[in-house]
Amino acid sequence: MREIQPCVICDEVITNPICLDCLAREVEFWLRDRDPSLLPEVRKIRHELNVYDNFQETSETCIKCKMEMNICPHCYCTKILKLFQTKHSELVEPFKKAFISF
Ligand SMILES: [Zn+2]
Ligand SMILES: [Zn+2]
Repeated sequence: MREIQPCVICDEVITNPICLDCLAREVEFWLRDRDPSLLPEVRKIRHELNVYDNFQETSETCIKCKMEMNICPHCYCTKILKLFQTKHSELVEPFKKAFISF
């Protein structure tokens, strides 16, 4: 059995494995109704996280698309949240409700 690899950013075990691509798609869909002007920045955050690809051997696979992943949804959501906090604070609470349930 392979050892469980934690998230490469926060070092926590990934408990709710949804990959960044699946998550980003949902976040973009969610944001489209609220403030589409933020979409480029949300995409940029996803893009910046590409540097972690192949960072280490991954053992988690996304429950939706079965892609290997090494960053937990929480780390991605935290970055999105920071963006909203600085640019669009009224989106913070609805975003937490929709995406941060863990
Ligand atoms: Zn993490
Ligand atoms: Zn996925």
